[in-house]
Amino acid sequence: MRIIKYVFFLIVSGVGFSAENFGNFIYYDSQARAKEIIYEKEDGFAVVEGDILVKKLSQIDKIPRAAIIRQIGGERWVNGEVPYKFGDLSEENKNAVLNAMHLWETQTVIKFIEITTENAHNYPDYLLFVSFNGKNSSSFVGKQGGEQIVKIAISCKPFSAAHEIGHAIGLWHEQSRADRDKYVTILWDNIDEDYKFNFNQHIGDGQDLLEYDYDSLMHYSAYAFSKNGQQTITPVNKDVNIGQRTHLSDKDIAAIMVMYARSLM
Ligand SMILES: [Zn+2]
Repeated sequence: MRIIKYVFFLIVSGVGFSAENFGNFIYYDSQARAKEIIYEKEDGFAVVEGDILVKKLSQIDKIPRAAIIRQIGGERWVNGEVPYKFGDLSEENKNAVLNAMHLWETQTVIKFIEITTENAHNYPDYLLFVSFNGKNSSSFVGKQGGEQIVKIAISCKPFSAAHEIGHAIGLWHEQSRADRDKYVTILWDNIDEDYKFNFNQHIGDGQDLLEYDYDSLMHYSAYAFSKNGQQTITPVNKDVNIGQRTHLSDKDIAAIMVMYARSLM
């Protein structure tokens, strides 16, 4: 699993980018390695890898040419407790999110706490689930601090909601691991030109835990961002499938247990 690092800061400088629907910025990691992040502009947010929220576009516009900002991947939730509120979700989507929470709660140490008027003062940091009128649900990675949006697309399935919650509790996509090229082949010729950036590895902003997990709920599907209906990512091991959205894998569960066992000590 690829998980958030604990403490990590980035120095960011905004640079020009021509395409209307995309933008970029450059950051320097703790070893002063420059890294470019290309993002898609969607509904007021910068989005990478299809469903990972990076920042509000209005916040990126305010970043001066050199500034230290919080890491893109946020922090862990204290004691594994994740407070949440529902925004304008349909009953169907509310149930999908509740089912998704139940999956994580019954198989890991994560606990979700609904915010009420009585307990709100105890929980300044929380997830706010809101409906999104587009095709992809999306989420930030890790705890960002304050109110943190999770966008739930129309008719979101419980396991898609569980994938977004996986991001919110600190998991990156599995195929963003530093060692992914040993396990999967990226078929660049089949990827939509505009979306090739979604296959960049963000090596500076995560830490790889356990072995590569083809079975992860956090893995791209074999056809992610395909321009021609053919596979864009294929396992080196031909006996496995990728991109399942039917269960939390053993290593998804183990990664969260390792991350949050430490915070419980
Ligand atoms: Zn995702």
